[in-house]
This record gives sequence, structure tokens and C-alpha cells, in this order.
Amino acid sequence: AYLDRIAAVDGQVHAYLHVDAEGALTTARAVDARRAAGERLATLAGVPIAVKDVMTTRGLPTTCGSRMLEGWVPPYDATVVRHLKDAGMPILGKTNMDEFAMGSSTEHSAYGPSRNPWDLERIPGGSGGGSSAAVASFQAPLATGTDTGGSIRQPAAVTGTVGTKPTYGGVSRYGLVALASSLDQAGPCARTVLDTALLHEVMGGHDPLDSTSIDAPVPPVVDAARRADVTGLRIGVVKELGGEGYQPGVRERFEESVALLVEQGAEVVEVSCPSFDYALAAYYLILPSEASSNLAKFDAMRYGMRVLPEGVDAPTAEQVMAATRDAGFGPEVKRRIILGTYALSSGYYDAYYGSAQKVRSLIAQDFERAYEKVDVLLSPTAPTTAFKLGDKLDDPMAMYLNDIATIPANLAGVPGMSIPSGLAEEDGLPTGIQILAPAMKDERLYSVGAALE
Ligand code: GLN
Repeated sequence: AYLDRIAAVDGQVHAYLHVDAEGALTTARAVDARRAAGERLATLAGVPIAVKDVMTTRGLPTTCGSRMLEGWVPPYDATVVRHLKDAGMPILGKTNMDEFAMGSSTEHSAYGPSRNPWDLERIPGGSGGGSSAAVASFQAPLATGTDTGGSIRQPAAVTGTVGTKPTYGGVSRYGLVALASSLDQAGPCARTVLDTALLHEVMGGHDPLDSTSIDAPVPPVVDAARRADVTGLRIGVVKELGGEGYQPGVRERFEESVALLVEQGAEVVEVSCPSFDYALAAYYLILPSEASSNLAKFDAMRYGMRVLPEGVDAPTAEQVMAATRDAGFGPEVKRRIILGTYALSSGYYDAYYGSAQKVRSLIAQDFERAYEKVDVLLSPTAPTTAFKLGDKLDDPMAMYLNDIATIPANLAGVPGMSIPSGLAEEDGLPTGIQILAPAMKDERLYSVGAALE
């Protein structure tokens, strides 16, 4: 049914970069046979899933939305993908994304943007807009994402779906094409809170192949989603997120959701996190710095594309590298490599990268102080509903501002979730509410999310 749906609508939505109909059907049939033989299978066995193209999949192309990796077929699976396969989940295909996960709209994909199923002239969020569009247009019941600054939560918000960024280290990064290693975190996308929890459980867990993986069991997210209990829960509304610059309809729906939690017995207070005002600035120094280093491996020798410089008989390695990186990277990726290289250069390191790291510590302290008083924090997920394709493409700063509410969680490593909070009155488009919890207390996201559903 999902393959039929893809054939019917993906020509318009463009959620997928690659569809593996044969592979998905083979897995589905194998699961059917095992079930018929009386074998006890995992809860999600036979449930198809779409995989963000940032994750390596053995035998399936993995481009990360880039020209640089066009045609690359990895010889191994990311740990997350291995977990999906172990659970017996058929992989429908790979979803579109901004090139190397840099962006908030999928417009930076080297293969053209995905479209928002609510309005095909609008963006489905980014960088994981292919996953959110696939789930929102019923082309997959579940999808994977990665969230470095909001790429699971913001797409969920603007497509009316659910997405979680787990605690940093809660889901293995092994086999993900790295953007900023200290911020990257893989997580689940789905249409309901319980579905998201079930997928979270499959994706998570300790992995010795990722040195920052947390050696602890996955928090009890499925139980929490089933119980949906918020009685006596202390909830903090972040004063710095949700005021000026947020669309009126986004704020209204947010306030309604908060009122709904109060009705169900939660206690709500306002909490101030003053350093959040500097989160975006710190992020756009730390992220480009780490990205410039991670992307150095695309040197025309080891992976993907190789372009020979024109009119040179015996080019040097450096000339080949320069020609390849010039042709293989898009403008946003080049912008960030230049920014990051600058921020890390001697003489500027302390002023930029060093200062940004200090702000990062202050943000973590703001969270710690807040969590002394409350169990979870709330804010709108994104300042606006889905904007029109092309609207922010020439203005990087306007694009970056989309992640103003999601970035603090990445800088501090704490978990966050976006769930739908209704349609904005002025444009009839989905809005999202963001729930944040302390590290390794991911289950709290699901208690609150399920209570609001
Ligand atoms: N939109 C943010 C950025 O461009 C977030 C990216 C992400 O989470 N992968 O960096």
C-alpha cells in the first residue's frame, strides 16, 4: 500500500531520493513467512520505514542530499539502520534533505526541494523535510531523522507530524554522515506520539562503535506514551522563546496547548533562560567549525566525486581536490566551510570558537537551573508555519532564524520533541509545540506529548 501511495503522489511531493520497492517487499515477505511459522517478532516487524539519506544503507545509494556523494553505495549499515533491519522493518527508501543536513527547507538539496503536503508551494521544513513530507503524505508510517539544530523537530512542526531529538548519545551516530559531531543526534519521525516512542525504542541504545554513545538502556518512552499522565508535573514555559518574532497563530495555539496541560493537572510556571538569546549566534560558530572539519574528508581521493581541473595535463592532488570541492559542494555548504575555517584559524579561535563554547556552557547552565524548578520546558517549535518555497533562499539569516527555538537543546545535549498543536488561524497551516526534558529523561517528552494528543 505504501509503495502504491509513493507511486501515486511522490511525483508531486518529492519526499524520496531513492525508492527500494524490491528490497522492501522482500523484507515484508520474509517477515510474513516468519510470522506464519509462529515466530515471535519485534513490535514493529513488517512496519515499513523511510530512512533519511544521511544514514548509510548497505547496498542502497546514500547521497546526503549532495552531489559530492552522488552514486555512492555504502558497503555497510549505520547502527540505526541495522536496528531497523533487526526489528524486521522494510526500508521503503531514502528521503530527501538539505545538502549535508544544512538548512531548514530542503531547498539546499542538490536534487531539488521536497514539498509540504499541506500546500505544495510551501517547504516541508529541513533538513529532514523528505522524512516529514513522507510521513505527512502517508508515503511512510515512520521515518528516521537527524537533528543537529532542529532538523527533526522543525520539519515535524511545519508538517503537522511528531518528531523527537533524543538525548545526545541516546541513539548511535555510527554510520551517519557527520555534520557537527557534538550536536548531531538521530531520532524518530511519525504521525502519533506512541508510534514515535516505538521507533525511538528500536533506534536507541548503547553502541560501542560510537564513542559518545551513552551506556544505559533506552529511557521508558513507550510506557510514558501509553500512560499520557501529567498530573503534578511541573512545566516551565520559556520566557525567551515564543514572544516577538513568532507568528500570532503559532502563539495562540501554543497557549491553548499549555492551558490543556493545566486542565489535566500540570503545574505551569514561567522560566527564564537568559542565555538562549545567544544560542543561534553560538550555534552558527560551533556548527560551521565542526562541519568544516568533518567535510574535509571529501578530498576527491576517498569518497564520492572526483573532478579533474580543466586544461591541466598532470594535476596535483591539491588541484584535483580544489576542482572537486568547487563542483561538488553547493553554496550553503561552501558558506559554512568558509565560516568554520575562519572561526578556527589561529588568531581568531579564542574570539569566535572559544566565545561560542563559553555561551554553550551558559546555555547548559540555564537548562540545569530551570530543571531544578520544573520537570519539562515548553515553547513553540518554530516561529512560523511553513513558508513559501524560495522565500528565504537568498537570505541565509532569515533561514537560520527558523531554528531559534530548537537550537538550545542541541547545544546542551538535552532531548526535545515537537508535536502538532493545531492549525494557525491566519493561514490554516500546522503549528508545533516543543517539549524539552533533562538529559536521559526522554520519557517525559512522551508523557506530555501523549497528554496533548
Ligand atoms: N537548520 C539547521 C541548520 O541549518 C539545523 C540543521 C540540522 O539539524 N541538521 O544547521
